[in-house]
Amino acid sequence: MVERFQQYIDGAFEDARESFDSVDPSTGEVWARMPAASEHDVDRAVQAAHRALTDPAWANLTASARGKLLYTLADLVAQNAPRLAELETRDTGKIIRETKSQIGYVAEYYRYYAGVADKIQGAWLPVDKPDMEVTLRREPVGVVAGIVPWNSQLFLSAVKIGPALAAGCTIVLKASEDGPAPLLEFARLVNEAGFPGGVVNIVTGFGNDCGRTLTSHPLVSRIAFTGGPETARHVVRNSAANLAAMSLELGGKSPVLVFEDADLESACNAVIAGIFAASGQSCVAGSRLVVQRGIHDALIERLVAKAQAIRIGNPQDAATEMGPLATRRQLEHIENVLRASVAAGGRIVTGGRRADGFARGNYFLPTIVDCPDSRVPSVSEELFGPVLSVVTFDTEADAIALANDTRYGLASGVFTRDLTRAHRLTRALRAGIVWVNTYRAVSPIVPFGGYGLSGLGREGGLEAVLEYTRTKSVWIRTSDEPIADPFVMR
Ligand code: NAD
Repeated sequence: MVERFQQYIDGAFEDARESFDSVDPSTGEVWARMPAASEHDVDRAVQAAHRALTDPAWANLTASARGKLLYTLADLVAQNAPRLAELETRDTGKIIRETKSQIGYVAEYYRYYAGVADKIQGAWLPVDKPDMEVTLRREPVGVVAGIVPWNSQLFLSAVKIGPALAAGCTIVLKASEDGPAPLLEFARLVNEAGFPGGVVNIVTGFGNDCGRTLTSHPLVSRIAFTGGPETARHVVRNSAANLAAMSLELGGKSPVLVFEDADLESACNAVIAGIFAASGQSCVAGSRLVVQRGIHDALIERLVAKAQAIRIGNPQDAATEMGPLATRRQLEHIENVLRASVAAGGRIVTGGRRADGFARGNYFLPTIVDCPDSRVPSVSEELFGPVLSVVTFDTEADAIALANDTRYGLASGVFTRDLTRAHRLTRALRAGIVWVNTYRAVSPIVPFGGYGLSGLGREGGLEAVLEYTRTKSVWIRTSDEPIADPFVMR
């Protein structure tokens, strides 16, 4: 049975004229048909979002009432987490353990934004003119275009939909063409929560027509994009048409620095989780291990033992610890980069090939490559897969230089028991996140975003919500004296 999904435009579920197959990454079989939004569909969705902005059903809601709707949505996400998790696992191959726990936490993100809705405040300004009252209103920025990649779509859309709605904006969200099922299902919860039609619209389709039309649409005021840097360049060019404000959450090549004084077992577990969780398909994957020479062999030995013990299997099985990659294209890309990395002097210490016994799924073994320097392609390129590249340092200064030797700058990890060194490193590392003696912790309260090629702007935290507002300066003259005619000389 092939399931069929619909798009959600202006409060109604509908088929698109065209549709495309969705493939189960664990079996290679088509399991669903997805609507492919046309340029016309995207235009209708943006028009609906634009109408909803001034429709009293949304525009006249108090901020607290918007917050209540978001709380209802959060509860619905929590209640429906098992179904959403099952769909995300089916459509992307991400293991059920991860999707269940992540979607449970997505509900907390919506709760956070629900609570923020009526804390967004304007200001009174102590202006330098005695007969003027100046206030600053904070108004919704307008129609938001949200674009997400295939990994963690519910999570990545929550940090766009949540702040947009808290601020009183409306949104058209484009799910990725790979694995859109959980977001299209999520649209049912938006509908059930009682948001007026047009406030949230969810479509899916391909980048070149659907994504381009959305990000260049003249009625879009803000773009919130998550994806790769190459696509981001297209989005920036598209936005020349509407001059929309934007945030870009892009990829990473995040280093994890392990010093000789670190708790080796703890660091080892964090490195394993940092790179092999979600089969390495995570923007914050700790894909570069920067290890001090004295513990290089001991740490690699532990990592190899743990990597080889990871249970690979059906992502729907609760016992599975690593599933397939989301697409065949991704698998082939990793193989190509690994071939080039071996030619450049990289030594594969474990993995480096497809997993046995899964001929039809996109399964790749947990892989560790020991590299002589940062010129090896697996050290410099984002692979978005289960590949850990190792480089070795002698001094703290070498470690910093190696860690910062990247055009990305999303996340970083430091493992040391030396408190003063930890402080020095948090200053020296060029990345939007530094985790010390931990890795991959996230929270709706904490900003998230990168330096350099890892993006622009931040998601999460209060400041990011303000990005969905704009200020209006209101001048009120308080004097009863009539304004003198400027052309009459006194
Ligand atoms: P991608 O850049 O190929 O696609 C992302 C989205 O952009 C998709 O929905 C796609 O349809 C759309 N798109 C493609 N062309 C477009 C165009 N011309 N105009 C508008 N939209 C267009 O990314 P992907 O391969 O799906 O995902 C992997 C990338 O996402 C990795 O680089 C990863 O690091 C990054 N990522 C970043 C974060 C973060 O928060 N920093 C989180 C997850 C993933």
